[in-house]
Amino acid sequence: MNFPKELRPTDKIEVQLFDGTIVNLPTAHPKFPSWKEARPDFDFGKKPILNYKKEACFAELIILRLLLDQGWDGAWIETYGGTHYLRSMPKAWNLQSEHISIPKVKEDLLQKIWKTAKTKACFDVLAWHGDQLAFFEAKRKGKDKLTSGQIKFIKGALECGISPESLIIVEWEEAALSDFQYPEDKKFFINLLTNGDENQFDKKYKDCFDFRDPKIKRKEFNLIRNKVFKQLLSKYGKRCRLKIHPDCSKINKFDIDHFIPLSTNELNKKLRKMKPANGRKVPAQSFGSNNIKNLIIACSRCSAFKKHRIIAARGASF
Ligand SMILES: [Zn+2]
Repeated sequence: MNFPKELRPTDKIEVQLFDGTIVNLPTAHPKFPSWKEARPDFDFGKKPILNYKKEACFAELIILRLLLDQGWDGAWIETYGGTHYLRSMPKAWNLQSEHISIPKVKEDLLQKIWKTAKTKACFDVLAWHGDQLAFFEAKRKGKDKLTSGQIKFIKGALECGISPESLIIVEWEEAALSDFQYPEDKKFFINLLTNGDENQFDKKYKDCFDFRDPKIKRKEFNLIRNKVFKQLLSKYGKRCRLKIHPDCSKINKFDIDHFIPLSTNELNKKLRKMKPANGRKVPAQSFGSNNIKNLIIACSRCSAFKKHRIIAARGASF
């Protein structure tokens, strides 16, 4: 299905239904930028407010807006105190003034699912595009879980012929944007990469950073690895761009290397002098992205020599 890239599933989560059946639901892991301006007057009891194209939005609405912008149609289905179909930020608890109507066939489908599932609970967003249809449930990473009502809803939807592929979990987290965990970390990279020029750094290297959980980044990388390797080979040829080991390229084996490592504990060690405690390693921080700007071809020698270290670019020019 042609979802906006933020909502494309990159893995699956296991959901156990109440009859013991396990279903695997596709899961996307987008980052949504947080809202930094004044909070809207009504925020649904302190729901997180995010920034979608400079508008204050709840996560459900960002998901819907992303889909609408990609040519889908749909509604946010809010089940607080009745069923509400919404497409804009609610202004008050009764949600009345924002009601929209949805096509009768969609309404009928929902009623059928709710009757089968014996619940009025629902995934947050229903979207359709031609003969495609999908449900999306927004879950804030590490905070929200599927409710028992939603687990019943999943079973009802499956029994009504909705495929598991159309029941998508959107496990979102707030984007740190270029917010480094520590200012000295950003300073370190600015000095290393652009000789202290912050403007240049923001312009040139912003896409090379992604502060999400490295596990997610690794999964996403595995999905694009082959494609990106071909792209890099056709652009730069089989040449090592690290050139940091005396035996560089002596073995004719090349792979993709993250120039800024996906995760590393180098700065915790070097800048903060953190020491390993109780036989454990110094904790690593998440830094590098899977953006092609952060991916280079390296020979196996240099790659192994570099590991998770952060190095200044020598052969690599970006
Ligand atoms: Zn090399």
